[in-house]
Amino acid sequence: MANGFMDRRTRSAYTGIGWALAAVLGLAGVEYTIVSSAWQTRSSAVHELEATAKLTTAAEAKELSQLLNDLYVTTRTISLLPAVRSTPKQNRASAAQDAVRDGRFSVPDSETVAQLYLHLAEVSAISEVYVVHDGFAPERGQVPFLMFDSVIVDRFKSLVGARQAARAAPATPGYKAPAEDEDEEYAEIVRQLDAFRRLHPHLPSSAPHGVAALLSPALITCDNTQYLSTSASHDRDRRGVLLSVPIYDQPGGAFMGLVATVVRLNVLEARLASLPLVPVTAQEQADAQRTGHDAVPLSEYVLSTARGDVRVFDRRNEALAEVVAGRAKAGLSLREPLSGPFGESWVLERHVPQAAYDQLDAQARRTITLASAVTLTTFLALCAVAWLFARQRRAGQQLKELAEFDGLTGLPNRLQLDRTIELSLREAASGNGRLTLLMVDLNKFKTVNDTFGHHFGDQLLIEVGRRLQKHLHAPGAHPATGTGKAARLLGRLGGDEFLALLCDVEDEDAACAIAERMLSALSVPVVVDGQSLNVGASIGLARYPEHGQSAKQLLRSADEAMYSAKSQPESALVVYQHEVDPATQRRLRLETDLRGALSRGQFELYYQAIVSLRQHRPDRAEALIRWRHPELGLISPDEFIPLLERSSLIVPVGLWVLRQAAQQLREWRAADSPIQAVSVNVSVVQLVKSEFSADAIEIVSQVGIDPAHITIEITEWVLIDNPQRCIAQLETLRRAGLRVAIDDFGAGHASLNYLRRLPIDMLKIDRSLLVDAVSPAGLSILAAMVQLAAEMGLDCAVEGVETVEQHGMLFDIGCPRAQGYLFSRPLPAEQADAAFRSMRMAVSWSNSQLFSASSFADD
Ligand code: C2E
Ligand code: CA
Ligand code: CA
Repeated sequence: MANGFMDRRTRSAYTGIGWALAAVLGLAGVEYTIVSSAWQTRSSAVHELEATAKLTTAAEAKELSQLLNDLYVTTRTISLLPAVRSTPKQNRASAAQDAVRDGRFSVPDSETVAQLYLHLAEVSAISEVYVVHDGFAPERGQVPFLMFDSVIVDRFKSLVGARQAARAAPATPGYKAPAEDEDEEYAEIVRQLDAFRRLHPHLPSSAPHGVAALLSPALITCDNTQYLSTSASHDRDRRGVLLSVPIYDQPGGAFMGLVATVVRLNVLEARLASLPLVPVTAQEQADAQRTGHDAVPLSEYVLSTARGDVRVFDRRNEALAEVVAGRAKAGLSLREPLSGPFGESWVLERHVPQAAYDQLDAQARRTITLASAVTLTTFLALCAVAWLFARQRRAGQQLKELAEFDGLTGLPNRLQLDRTIELSLREAASGNGRLTLLMVDLNKFKTVNDTFGHHFGDQLLIEVGRRLQKHLHAPGAHPATGTGKAARLLGRLGGDEFLALLCDVEDEDAACAIAERMLSALSVPVVVDGQSLNVGASIGLARYPEHGQSAKQLLRSADEAMYSAKSQPESALVVYQHEVDPATQRRLRLETDLRGALSRGQFELYYQAIVSLRQHRPDRAEALIRWRHPELGLISPDEFIPLLERSSLIVPVGLWVLRQAAQQLREWRAADSPIQAVSVNVSVVQLVKSEFSADAIEIVSQVGIDPAHITIEITEWVLIDNPQRCIAQLETLRRAGLRVAIDDFGAGHASLNYLRRLPIDMLKIDRSLLVDAVSPAGLSILAAMVQLAAEMGLDCAVEGVETVEQHGMLFDIGCPRAQGYLFSRPLPAEQADAAFRSMRMAVSWSNSQLFSASSFADD
């Protein structure tokens, strides 16, 4: 005894150490996982940040190159205009002269140039265009032959007008308007004329290609509209660059002058910051506020000339100014030279602030701190719970003997019954044994209690317990078995409910006999306090293993049987009837019948229209499988696809679907049907369990249709079930020219991040998102998804469009495609073609009466 006690203590000490060790190791493991996953997340975020920065910078460089090229081309076009090339080679002696009024330049020609100028002003907000002849002598008061600056002139006029109107309000204190200053521009024009004369004296034979261009350093321009109007003027607002192209005379092609366009630096700055213009004047600032342009994110770009004499960037970005000034280091600096005639002399840089990286680091650290805190707290809480639990168990063990018996009858209570059933079940399971539960419930006990009082009721229960107990151990009774576990046990569950457990009764009849005896024992009137009373009872019988595998299931079965006994008018015994529910029955049947369905030609394809909302017509169809069961009729794929998947029959059936749809499409295309492409649903099981991509490519080539006309629809489960294999298969499909769509997007787990990992062409947004779009929040989610798809360069369709309102809403948010009962139900091939042909979409979007009623395909 003493030995046993020591043993237990030693054992528990070891167990304690073991647990502690496991806990510490576990905690360390969890901590390690948290830390490494947080840093992994951080490094993939850094990767994404940098990849995005590189991509967007390259794109921006390309756009700026395009802009500069546009400037060059238009300037060159002006320089090559016959009218310009045949002007008298003479600048104006003074600003008082007017070449057009003096008849030296015709009005139509002047208008052509003005048009080109306006075009330039529009695409790049250039300030002025000058046409200047060689020999320009500004020091003698000469002015360029032609000057186009109407836009600035107009702006200037309106500004002055506004100021005059607001004369009552005094100008900003300290405001001093600098004079309009052309000196620097003119000096530069003289220099450029000189350079062209020396370096490019003749029109190149390749013209218009190869015509030279020159870029000036930043200089003060005469367009000081913005500069003039503010006291806190930024020097950049009055500076610009001169972009020039030489003019060659006609027909000789000798150098005769130049066309110069002026671009103010703050116009380039606005471009970099994606603003229409840098708001400088009070009016512009008020406008920016009104249009929300004051909240445009800070730009990280710096545009410089290769010579380094011009540098432009978003003036609001103070951190960037520090980097440009060399006082701070950027987290990432990118450099993209621009291309093209003027472009060659420019470089675009991008400085991603260190703060962006710091933020990711801080985020990772926060995640670690938070997760660690949570883990630690959880760990401590678990320790506390474990400790309490252990204490409770010890106390419980001591109380067990007291706690497992019913206070009234002295019979085992529910606790002991439950435990014994569990134990007996385990034993029965391991030794192929059987087990019977008898659930006994008195009839009308409540009435007895109410009529004769609780005391009477209690006495009655004691007597019932005694009788049941006696008959439980009647003929064939075995006393307690050697294991200390009763072979038969009667207990009281509570109220008037008793439960008998029979472990030594092999067959059902014997068990029934015992139950019957119990019933007859109860049919003898019970006498309490001189009162004689007939108590009936109902018994439900359930057996292991037929009626339940677990204690819970068995008890439920016994209970159910007891309830059906209760529905009898007299005392009754009911054996649990093991009934297969109709749903299971049907499933079993379908499972069996599916095996021969393909070879018996029981599958059919229906087709549902996918509508282009931009072209107002259906142009493709989704193939949806149907099973025509010889007896059960048309069966929905929702019911049998999961069964096919479970048995892997989906593999051959899926290939049949693809072949069938491809052949149908070939027929349609040959017959000039509006249906020009089909979508086929493919189950993830097909990707995981078969060489679907290879088989599909083979089928498409056998049928002989363009793979681009087949879209494979797959659900987001691809990313959960063996993603590598699935993604590889999708990539193979796409390489072969097939298109891939993600189906039911938004219904499950797929996050946008996942989406980026998938090689797909199209997004099909799940019906549930459309249904949710009745709320403003739901609508913005749907709109965001549609927009996201567009941004990712994906085609996009919303599924389940049932109402005209939904259709109008999708059109409004710019969704390219839609599918749903509103346009057409899924239909057999011939009907689908006919329905497609007859679908007439009214283009009167405004009244949202988008379809004429007759256009709906019949259900
Ligand atoms: P799914 O790919 O999302 O197909 C669209 C389902 O939505 C179709 O159900 C279609 O009838 C239904 N639907 C279309 N418009 C509306 C609408 O406006 N309102 C509502 N409430 N429902 C609409 P269906 O044909 O019963 O197909 C159910 C699912 O079975 C399909 O969902 C697809 O996941 C699967 N399935 C169908 N054919 C095939 C197949 O050939 N292969 C595989 N693997 N799965 C298939
Ligand atoms: Ca689909
Ligand atoms: Ca879908």
